[in-house]
Amino acid sequence: MKIAISGAGVAGPTLAYWLLRAGHEPTLIERAPQPRTGGYIIDFWGVGFTVAERMGLLPDICDAGYKVREVRLVDGQGRKTGGFSTELFRVSLDDRFISVPRSQLADAIYRSIEGRCEALFGETVTALSDHGDRVDLTLAKSGSRVFDLVIGTDGQHSAIRRLAFGPEARFERDIGYRVAAFEADGYAPRDELVYVSHAKPGRQLARFAERDGRTLFLFVFAADHLDDAESHHADARRKTLQRVFGDFGWEAPKILAALDAARDLYFDRVSQIVMPAWSTGRVALLGDAAACVSLLAGEGCGLAMAEAYVLAGELARAGTDHTRAFGQYEQRLRPLIATKQAAARKFAGAFAPRTAFGLWTRNQATKLMAWRPLAQFFLGRDLRDDFDLPDYGL
Ligand SMILES: Cc1cc2nc3c(=O)[nH]c(=O)nc-3n(C[C@H](O)[C@H](O)[C@H](O)COP(=O)(O)OP(=O)(O)OC[C@H]3O[C@@H](n4cnc5c(N)ncnc54)[C@H](O)[C@@H]3O)c2cc1C
Repeated sequence: MKIAISGAGVAGPTLAYWLLRAGHEPTLIERAPQPRTGGYIIDFWGVGFTVAERMGLLPDICDAGYKVREVRLVDGQGRKTGGFSTELFRVSLDDRFISVPRSQLADAIYRSIEGRCEALFGETVTALSDHGDRVDLTLAKSGSRVFDLVIGTDGQHSAIRRLAFGPEARFERDIGYRVAAFEADGYAPRDELVYVSHAKPGRQLARFAERDGRTLFLFVFAADHLDDAESHHADARRKTLQRVFGDFGWEAPKILAALDAARDLYFDRVSQIVMPAWSTGRVALLGDAAACVSLLAGEGCGLAMAEAYVLAGELARAGTDHTRAFGQYEQRLRPLIATKQAAARKFAGAFAPRTAFGLWTRNQATKLMAWRPLAQFFLGRDLRDDFDLPDYGL
């Protein structure tokens, strides 16, 4: 089948890889002029790790990744107030856990299909018409195209979801935080293999030192209302961060100065997408477009890869019966995603507490993680994916 995939982030190219294996003809349609860079470092484990292994990507991902040693919470003077060793994550997950910059994970996936399928960059779908036996797409630059199926992998603010299911507001659950991330060269201090984080009520700023003298920074802050105006223009985003973190103390003045020179700033709402159905007719959604779990789940990339693998596998199993494939794909994955979304919502208060007492409690709680049996009990329960990836023989 000719299958249009809107969005070449993490889910889109993973889907293209598995569709190619099954003998289909995917076309990637990506709004950005080239694969997007930017974003923070993400933790990668579970079902996504297994899919990457089946794609032969683990050597590249592990080369680009980091075996982080510690999460260190510090006060305004940089003194340690809490945190834990991440060794426990690795032990709980049999060493199948790596931290990797989001841009490098996306790059490794994209390279696995580069040149093997049509990829339209700087392009987007502006209209969609499902005729039952085919879907007509109108593309902003290339005009009309006809496909057998259309898959929306265009992220949290998916255009395919809007065109096929309705406005974003209907499906978005705002968790009440904003997130921003950028990368800078030559920042000091550096603490190799340590996530260093300082928080004040409702605000958190973290840094992680990468190879080649680069550092990644992550801002998270409470914002109770959905406000799009701030997030559409790079300058407005920078101003928002300057305003919110201007009096934050710690290393904020130096980090905000580095932000002025940053090429790429990732800025978004921390929200989840909850849809009553992940497909309609010949159109399906996957990844953040279908069921964004949010930054707080820590596993958005891995889950998106697992969804792509299962959707391609079910299409291969169902032959031309895409309705059956779409149904099986959703039925298999919905319980796992619902569990992850619920866990992320529960975690929100602990991730970036809004009160001084909440912050103190969180810092104390992280110290308990030093007691291995307790940590393994909690980590094991929340980290392990309760899902057996089928073998589709692809
Ligand atoms: C630049 C960037 C940085 C990120 N940084 C972080 C981070 O630091 N921490 C974190 O937890 N999550 C981050 N995310 C989100 C995370 O990557 C996703 O949760 C996860 O990868 C799920 O994958 P996805 O493929 O569904 O969505 P994404 O990886 O978000 O990919 C969606 C793709 O669709 C493209 N797209 C959007 N709209 C259209 C359109 N109308 N037409 C065509 N293409 C479109 C986007 O440009 C993007 O390439 C980031 C996403 C991006 C795009």
